[in-house]
Amino acid sequence: MTDKAINDPGRRAFLYALAASPAAALIGAKPARAGQSLPHMDQSDPQAHSFAYFNDAAKVPAGTVPYKPGQRCDNCQLLQGNAADAWRPCPLFPGKLVSTKAWCRYWVAKP
Ligand code: SF4
Repeated sequence: MTDKAINDPGRRAFLYALAASPAAALIGAKPARAGQSLPHMDQSDPQAHSFAYFNDAAKVPAGTVPYKPGQRCDNCQLLQGNAADAWRPCPLFPGKLVSTKAWCRYWVAKP
């Protein structure tokens, strides 16, 4: 995947729509339930690596595209779950919880 593809707003919109659609169920993305206990995302996981997921956005290496300071899971449109929880579901990582302080290259600003 190229940086151009990563930065493409259309691609982001597609991923968001996919995550929110019935098609998500076909690929195993199950909606999170309140109180659901899931393992935490490990940034050394191959999927995390391919999505440039970092558990602490403050430690995203300089030059990582398309990261911009201030972007974190807790201000990403895709983050789900209870706002009071430090680890919450994200449809891009089904079956895992992401840190609210984390970041990945598919970050989308909350409207
Ligand atoms: Fe999910 Fe958004 Fe966090 Fe990426 S930045 S892991 S898409 S909540």
